[in-house]
Amino acid sequence: MQGNVDDRLERMQELIIQVSDCLNSDSKIAVLTGSGISSESGIPTFRGKNGIWEQFRPEELANFNAFIKNPLLVQSWYKHRREIIEKVQPNVGHYALAELDDLVSDCWIITQNIDNLHQMAGSRHVVELHGNVFKNYCIECGKRYDGIDLPKSVNSMYQCECGGLIRPDVVWFGELLSETEQRKAEQYCQICQVLISIGTSGVVYPAAGLPFIARENGAFLVEINPEPTELSSLMDIIIRQESGIVLPLIVESIR
Ligand code: ZN
Repeated sequence: MQGNVDDRLERMQELIIQVSDCLNSDSKIAVLTGSGISSESGIPTFRGKNGIWEQFRPEELANFNAFIKNPLLVQSWYKHRREIIEKVQPNVGHYALAELDDLVSDCWIITQNIDNLHQMAGSRHVVELHGNVFKNYCIECGKRYDGIDLPKSVNSMYQCECGGLIRPDVVWFGELLSETEQRKAEQYCQICQVLISIGTSGVVYPAAGLPFIARENGAFLVEINPEPTELSSLMDIIIRQESGIVLPLIVESIR
């Protein structure tokens, strides 16, 4: 049994060295991250086991029709999510990616997460494909309301000074991604030499299409994920382990 564990560790070390060998101070890296890296920080999936919110599925609340029908309900759900996310800290994986930024020429983070943890860890170039739960705007006049404290109206709803409803600046079910963010992500994938896919299942498009763009443009592809994903067959190197374990080792190995 011990032999097995040692073999697996040795294998992981070999893979980490192979990845580090591809990276140097001239490297341009794109890093695609999904919920896996955030769950290592303790961010729940918001499916079930959340008290009063247990009776709702995220897709029932995270859509524009639900918001217009019952703004208070949807706003309260996002308040609940912000309060949970606010207490969470980036993990060693997030910090390792921020450090990688200093060790290579470019390290672009393309994330499907809305929790702000990459920026908190210090990553400088973050594309937020699905928005950010701490950013909000008025659906009438577009005025931005960022942070935790939003203006409330007499009926407890978050309302802009113009009277319009305030919604989170996140991409809801049935909505399109921001064109600017999507274009930036695609550009990064066209010019990166290495793409690292972390904690993403590869089923949600257009994010799942990004590794294909990188591949077409000759990038080396790495997957870090404890579980096989829809993208696994595309990868040059797969490390079946949590990013909080692997990323600090890659950074250490480059240093
Ligand atoms: Zn307004």
